[in-house]
Amino acid sequence: GEVGELKISDAPLPKSRNFDVLSEFEKSKSKKTASFVVVGHVDAGKSTMMGRLLLELKVIDQRTVDKLRREAETIGKTSFALAWVLDQRSEERARGVTIDIATNRFETEHTAFTILDAPGHRDFIPNMIAGASQADFAILVVDSSTGAFESGLKGQTKEHSLLIRSMGVSRIIVAVNKLDAVAWSQERFDEIKDQVSGFLSVTGFQQKNIAFVPVSGLQGDNLVRRSTDPAASWYTGPTLVEELENSEPSVRALAKPLRMTISEVYRTMQSPVTIAGRIDAGSVQMGDAVLIQPSSEKAYVKSIQADDAPVDWAVAGQNIVLHLSHIDPIHVKVGDIICDPAKPIPRADTFTMKALAFDFLMPMQVDVHRGRLHAAGRIETITALLDKVSGAVVKKKPRIVKPATVARIVVKLDQLVPLEKGLRVVLRSGGQTVAAGLLE
Ligand code: GDP
Repeated sequence: GEVGELKISDAPLPKSRNFDVLSEFEKSKSKKTASFVVVGHVDAGKSTMMGRLLLELKVIDQRTVDKLRREAETIGKTSFALAWVLDQRSEERARGVTIDIATNRFETEHTAFTILDAPGHRDFIPNMIAGASQADFAILVVDSSTGAFESGLKGQTKEHSLLIRSMGVSRIIVAVNKLDAVAWSQERFDEIKDQVSGFLSVTGFQQKNIAFVPVSGLQGDNLVRRSTDPAASWYTGPTLVEELENSEPSVRALAKPLRMTISEVYRTMQSPVTIAGRIDAGSVQMGDAVLIQPSSEKAYVKSIQADDAPVDWAVAGQNIVLHLSHIDPIHVKVGDIICDPAKPIPRADTFTMKALAFDFLMPMQVDVHRGRLHAAGRIETITALLDKVSGAVVKKKPRIVKPATVARIVVKLDQLVPLEKGLRVVLRSGGQTVAAGLLE
């Protein structure tokens, strides 16, 4: 209402200290930061493995693990990560905050990691897309126990790998799990390694960006400490944590204009419009004016929090909380983009993309997912079939696109959405992922 508007516009503007953020960032020898998603078939052992990893790194204690496990059993799901997510949620809910992805942090000697949790259930694919769109790399958990790998491979393991690659994740660590169940068979490990590296390279991962670690998440072997089982002595490579440390975070687009996708919006004591998300490009500092798209409304940055502590500035790659002023909450939604008012992200209701088809594509209704953003639309035109490797036009105006082929398509949306060249989006239809790719 009008009273609200008066209040919004009359407050004094936040003061800027005019940092040269890029040179401040160069000076600050802060720890390397990296974030990753954990993907893989249901029951591959993701939750057990991550729980054990955090336990061994002393991020959580055995009592917490036991408590979460009991809670998980009472809700009829033994998956501990899920319980963990729910646990975080109930805590957040009590504070009036809503989140739909659990973000958890841990530190090793050289790196501060963020786990973007992505439970492997089919219904969680939209969460996985959101997670993967923020991730520097992925851990793919495969179940080495007899038969389980073969059935997993056909289903979610492949779909997940395709998805995360399409979302721009280029490094993948494959945890070949449950090796205790196959007596640490090196033959089994090599067999799985061959098959998985085969389909990962077809999916577009470069061999140098793929690592394999034989582990037992249940027993904690080769996660943080090396396996002491004599049957496992053939493996002398890095542990999972060493592989995590070896993973260079993706190159941060620090010098580009600010882009931050909002993953949560809530009220706090500091501001009725507090937002959380990851800076995809550029930097932000206290006092900055920012533009929210698609509403095209301006706001000011009152304060910034990173890792629960107040900071003066933040750069691409960081997950932060921004307290905004001079903005009505009605203009700010999950999935919106915070950007530089001088170089805002444009809004569009039509776009052309280079799509990798997961299913048959033809003119059809689709939901477009980009991080937190979901918008209804339609494949209008299939412009051309493209060569998977060179991108050259193979056939113009095909009537249909077959799975596992690449095409240039035009998508029309029901509303204006912030979009620009180089963004990665996923197309879904009837609860299935049908395509993913890059905006042209
Ligand atoms: P998620 O669905 O991928 O999160 O899988 P869970 O972590 O819930 O594990 C699924 C099942 O596999 C559970 O019964 C676990 O006890 C079992 N499991 C997980 N990791 C291992 C392992 O390293 N070795 C063996 N033998 N079983 C495991």
